[in-house]
Order: sequence, then structure tokens, then C-alpha cells
Amino acid sequence: MAEFTQPAGVLSVTDLTPNVRQLVVLPKERHVLFHPGQWVSLKLPVGPKPPLNRAYSMAAPVTASGELTLVFDRVVGGLGSGYLFQVKAGDEIQLSGPYGNFTLPAPLDRELLCIARFTGMVPIRCILKELYAQRQTGSVLLIAVAPGEDDLLFHQELLTLAVTHPGFRYLPLVAAAGEQQAVDLTLSMLRPLVDNAPHKMIPMLCGTKGFVRPLRGYFVEAGYDRKEIKTETYD
Ligand SMILES: Cc1cc2nc3c(=O)[nH]c(=O)nc-3n(C[C@H](O)[C@H](O)[C@H](O)COP(=O)(O)OP(=O)(O)OC[C@H]3O[C@@H](n4cnc5c(N)ncnc54)[C@H](O)[C@@H]3O)c2cc1C
Repeated sequence: MAEFTQPAGVLSVTDLTPNVRQLVVLPKERHVLFHPGQWVSLKLPVGPKPPLNRAYSMAAPVTASGELTLVFDRVVGGLGSGYLFQVKAGDEIQLSGPYGNFTLPAPLDRELLCIARFTGMVPIRCILKELYAQRQTGSVLLIAVAPGEDDLLFHQELLTLAVTHPGFRYLPLVAAAGEQQAVDLTLSMLRPLVDNAPHKMIPMLCGTKGFVRPLRGYFVEAGYDRKEIKTETYD
């Protein structure tokens, strides 16, 4: 059966950082009921054979009014993100979904270890918002790596969460020299935490393949089963 595609109106456009933008869109025909960590497919009227399909994760949980919050970075020469950076409030975009299984495992019986690079924070932010809206009291460790200090997404919100929730630890890292440095820095933080942990954690990793795959490899070497490691890759 063909996937159900519908128009969505753009309610607002907000710059979160110089290179990251947020769109809030409202699907016009049906509510998109999703689990935090899932994404929608945007059908963009660009490229040699439109529509160009591009996936964007929801940055905030389901609301009663049905709007979706999408957050994306400007990829140099990127057709999809380039188009989205021109969209204005009042425009319409076509979308389908939700899709994906980068969602919280149940039960959440161990420490959750979220690791994100740059816009890889988007689905993880959604997951954390939902968890803390449900008064989550277990332990969560978030390692967020960005190419610059300005690129640490949702930084103030995450600092506030760390101050107000003793079970939530937030480790922001800046790796300006690219993916490999991001992997190396993350591993230098992870090794002592994972190697000395009395129990296995629940790892959820999100970002580009060059970031996620070496980290998944590290968890496998540390004795984790591949199935225990949730990953989402953006490229
Ligand atoms: C399941 C899923 C969920 C996603 N959710 C998000 C999201 O919430 N926010 C978001 O910004 N992007 C997300 N993406 C990536 C998004 O779908 C596009 O690939 C991205 O916006 C680049 O598209 P483009 O046409 O502009 O660039 P393309 O011409 O397709 O070039 C992409 C190239 O740019 C590089 N790149 C730099 N930043 C990104 C990035 N963010 N994602 C992918 N590639 C990047 C990669 O090396 C990649 O090869 C997601 C992808 C998947 C598969």
C-alpha cells in the first residue's frame, strides 16, 4: 500500500544557532502519533527527480494540538537542508510517517547512556523531554558533542535539567576538528565510565555513521551485544 502523505503548514521558523533551524509544522489531514525518537519523511520539491525524500526526527513529544517540531542543520551544498532553510511561516510541505525504531527500550531498568553528535541530539532531546515529563527518576547520562560551543543544541535546557534532576548527568563536549576528534573525545570520557560500571547501561547513539559506528564498535568490544545498542545514523 502506498504510504500516506499529507500537507503540513509551517507555523514557525526559529534559528536555534547560526547553522541550526527549527520548524514547527502542523499536519493538515491527520495527527502524526509518534514515539519519541521517531522521524517523518519530508517530500521536498527539489532535485533532478522531485520529490526529494529527507528524514527529520521530532525534537519534541506529541502534543494535543498535533504540531511537529523539526530541527536541522545547514549542510553545505545540501539540497534538502538548503531548501528547508528557505521555507517561511505559512508555507506548506508534504510529509509522511512516523517511522523508525530509535525509541526507548522497555523496561528502562538500567542507566540510560545517550550519546549524540550535533543534530544527533534531536531525537534524544525528544526522548529526554518525554522521560522527564513522566517524572523519570532513574539515572541518565548524556554525552553531547558539537563542532563548536554555539552548536551545542538545547544546551541551556540540558544544563537546567542537570541542576534540577539529580539522576541526570550532562557532559557537553566540543570537537572542532571533525568526526574523528568527536569519536576520540567521546571514547576518552566513555572508557572510565563504561569499564568501571557495575552493570551494563542502555546505550543510544545518534549522529553520522563516522561517529556512531566506531562507538558501537567500542561497546561491542566492551562486551555489549549489538542488539543492546540502539543507533540512528543520519547519512
Ligand atoms: C532517520 C533519520 C533521521 C534524521 N533526522 C535528522 C534531524 O532531525 N535533523 C537533521 O539535521 N538531519 C536529520 N537527518 C539527516 C537528513 O535527512 C538529511 O540527510 C540532511 O538534512 C542532509 O540532507 P541534504 O539533502 O541537505 O544533504 P545531502 O546532499 O544529502 O548531503 C548529506 C551529506 O552531508 C553530511 N551531513 C552534515 N550534516 C548532516 C546531517 N544533519 N544529516 C545528514 N548528513 C549530514 C553528511 O556527510 C552527508 O553525506 C536524518 C536522517 C535520517 C536517516
